[in-house]
Amino acid sequence: FGDKFKKPEGSWECDICLVQNKAEDTKCVACMSAKPGASAGTSSGASAESSSASTAPVFGLGDKFKKPEGAWDCDVCLVQNKAADVQCVACQTAKPGANVEP
Ligand SMILES: [Zn+2]
Ligand SMILES: [Zn+2]
Repeated sequence: FGDKFKKPEGSWECDICLVQNKAEDTKCVACMSAKPGASAGTSSGASAESSSASTAPVFGLGDKFKKPEGAWDCDVCLVQNKAADVQCVACQTAKPGANVEP
């Protein structure tokens, strides 16, 4: 039971009209919209990188905003300073907790 409704291998469903298309179809047989994920346009001898586009760097955005190791925020002007800085590059306030005078 249910086997009858199983999709044939590689078949895909059109996002637009929900018609089911065969794997070898590169566009919908009903509305001619391109197969989702199919490398339409610039066919510059693209290698077979078909199977479910998964290499897109969607997540990991947060890394860009991660503080560099040892960086610190100025309490006064909130500028981020590097670990090597002993005082704020903007307002010259001493780094909090820094041993300015041993
Ligand atoms: Zn369609
Ligand atoms: Zn500052």
